[in-house]
Amino acid sequence: MTQKPNLARHAGRLLTAGAVALALGAGMTQAANSAPGEAVAVGAEAKVQPKVQPKAQPKKPKFQLPFECGTAWQLNTWGHNPALDIVVHRNTGSDGKKMRASAAGKVASTYWNKGSGNTVQINHGGGWFTAYYHLKDKHNKYVKKGDKVQSHTQIGRIGSSGGTGWAHLHFEQRYKKGATSTAEKDRVPVYFNGKKYTGSGAEWKKVISHNCSKPKPTRWCTYKVVKKVHKRSWAGTKYASEGTLSKGAKVTLGQNGTSSPGGQLWQRAKLTGGADNKGPWVRGSSQYVKKVSPSCR
Ligand SMILES: [Zn+2]
Repeated sequence: MTQKPNLARHAGRLLTAGAVALALGAGMTQAANSAPGEAVAVGAEAKVQPKVQPKAQPKKPKFQLPFECGTAWQLNTWGHNPALDIVVHRNTGSDGKKMRASAAGKVASTYWNKGSGNTVQINHGGGWFTAYYHLKDKHNKYVKKGDKVQSHTQIGRIGSSGGTGWAHLHFEQRYKKGATSTAEKDRVPVYFNGKKYTGSGAEWKKVISHNCSKPKPTRWCTYKVVKKVHKRSWAGTKYASEGTLSKGAKVTLGQNGTSSPGGQLWQRAKLTGGADNKGPWVRGSSQYVKKVSPSCR
């Protein structure tokens, strides 16, 4: 029961989408380049000329959605593929939501532009960049040029600054070999967590952020489920459910004392799933699970 992005493409919405995109103004005119970081078939040549080492492709960072682990988002390319416009899942209000970096890197620039509004650009090394438009607060409020950032570093909040009338994050991944800064002409198809999100007029209704810190269970113990409990993408009831464990089921849980902001104990299950693919989380209180003995390893 892992979360899968909705890959349905709504071709019928293209006209509306185009109109929205036109209203946005920013970032609309540049055509997409091909993605230089994409895999190229070098194997055949290498066989013919075994002495010629194929040049290593610059390593693409493992980009993640630039939001808290486990949260859900809607992605649209509208008429400006491969750039994405991102709003919270079901578009229930994105204004002011915290934004993180898409991967670790160094801030290449922060600036104001009448189209993109408050803008941040991050250099991830190897020619790879990300750009974030329409931020709510002043462009250098959270980070400034030269700052090192981690994927969990807050770089701003979603807003509607510049040439747009609605709160959303306009997001781009860019590639330019050897560059210290990039422009819209350098943008390439967007990947999150190793999956490609690109295509003209494409929409993904629910994509879960895998922008997660490393899990650190200290030891694994066996439990019996005493009341049906949800498996969640991250520790907290606000995160997406990945189905339930029914009463009577046995489950191995990692104990690291993780609490949600409400103070409830959460444990990581040794199962597939979770926003970082390291296992889903379940409520750890004795109301839901009881230790089986002998139990811990
Ligand atoms: Zn946009």
